[in-house]
Amino acid sequence: LMAMLDEAGFTSVVATDCDQTYERYLRPGDRLHQSATIESVSEEKSTALGAGHFITTRSDYHDQHGDLVGSMRFRILKFRPKPKPDPEAPARPPRPRPSLTQDNAFWFEGARQRQLLIQRCASCGLLRHPPRPMCSACRSLGWDTVEASGRGHLHSFVVNHHPRAPAFDYPLVVALVDLEEGTRLVSNLVDVEPAEVKVGMPLEVSFVRFGDDLTLPQFRPA
Ligand SMILES: [Zn+2]
Repeated sequence: LMAMLDEAGFTSVVATDCDQTYERYLRPGDRLHQSATIESVSEEKSTALGAGHFITTRSDYHDQHGDLVGSMRFRILKFRPKPKPDPEAPARPPRPRPSLTQDNAFWFEGARQRQLLIQRCASCGLLRHPPRPMCSACRSLGWDTVEASGRGHLHSFVVNHHPRAPAFDYPLVVALVDLEEGTRLVSNLVDVEPAEVKVGMPLEVSFVRFGDDLTLPQFRPA
């Protein structure tokens, strides 16, 4: 039966369920005999794994007196594996896109134009990041932006090894960067070996494109 299904292209197998019934405990010295029966073979079914046939077999175990001591019903799916993904298709998903809101859209639009912007309170002039609607000092809702010099230093960092998201290169240096204007942002470091990264090292912005619609400020040693 298995060879027939293999020949028909149903070459993969997965166990689906198993029921066991015990009639009595076994004792040392029992001599058991097993007999197997194919109980059923289903029509071809489509499953998430691929099209295939469910095969139910029953194994009966008898003792030396011919009495049934236990049986097992075992069901497998013999299926035709789905074709592998097209090797020409892009090997990795794109870098995740930011969730744009009316508060942060200006910042990502600035990055797309290779400008590192900082939000500034229109009333008291306090700089703030990440973008938000209200000034924490004077509660003004008015704001504009200034363009950062792009210079700063490394406040802290982690070197990420696991878990690996396929859109990123590893090891991935995730950095907290203090800009010389005084605000702090989360970014990645580029053009540096993870072992060379030191807290306090001077950094400068480097705009990196991730496809047509996303450019992000990253930082490299200055
Ligand atoms: Zn303010």
